[in-house]
Amino acid sequence: MRMILLDRVTKTYNSKGQALERINLHVEDKEFVVIVGPSGAGKSTLLKLLTREEKPTSGKIIVGGIDYERLRDKDVPFLRRKIGVVFQDFKLLSNRTVFENVAFALEIVGMGNKEIRHTVPKVLDIVGLKGKGESYPSELSGGERQRVAIARAIVRQPKILIADEPTGNLDPKHAWDVIRVLEKINRYGTTVLLTTHNKEIVDKLKRRVVTIKDGKIVEDKARAEYRV
Ligand code: ADP
Repeated sequence: MRMILLDRVTKTYNSKGQALERINLHVEDKEFVVIVGPSGAGKSTLLKLLTREEKPTSGKIIVGGIDYERLRDKDVPFLRRKIGVVFQDFKLLSNRTVFENVAFALEIVGMGNKEIRHTVPKVLDIVGLKGKGESYPSELSGGERQRVAIARAIVRQPKILIADEPTGNLDPKHAWDVIRVLEKINRYGTTVLLTTHNKEIVDKLKRRVVTIKDGKIVEDKARAEYRV
């Protein structure tokens, strides 16, 4: 099944030029795709179109069978439950524990306490943070914080996980811990989109690599090497 379809998608923010120009991209269910490209290439714009933070100037976007042209504003929260996102800077709540950070994502969709207490430890286990539930983010390493952010992003079982430079602030060992967790989540059946500037990660991952430059996809290769 096709999870993501972009058909001739163009995004123009202002008269200075096009952030994305007639992008065609198909991603299958359960694929792991690495998106690379120099700063300003259009990677974040592409991710923001998928999460509906931005709307395309023209072109078609269909994600998990949802045609964005037909999506009403009130359906956007429903869409966002299908897409988990993690960022370079983690975006955790510093005054809440690890457990509470993850639980929060379930509280806002109305899950009851009993189910939350059952679900959160399972997800912390997946990201390798069993037993860290009562810690505060400040007590964790950068790699552990990013794995809390991943736990929060996947706890509602999204179809797609978007990881936007998740290793940008991490040293190599912690970066690989995070990448291994993304691979595990992908093995469990979630489509993963990863942006990174880390050449070693791209080369060792041996996954499909989509290269964006000046708003265009200039290369789309299975198991490609990094060439920006
Ligand atoms: P990347 O994530 O690859 O660094 P971006 O998608 O952030 O690239 O940016 C692509 C282009 O769009 C750049 O020229 C950038 O300046 C421009 N751009 C991004 N966001 C905005 C915005 N909100 N308003 C105007 N221009 C933007």
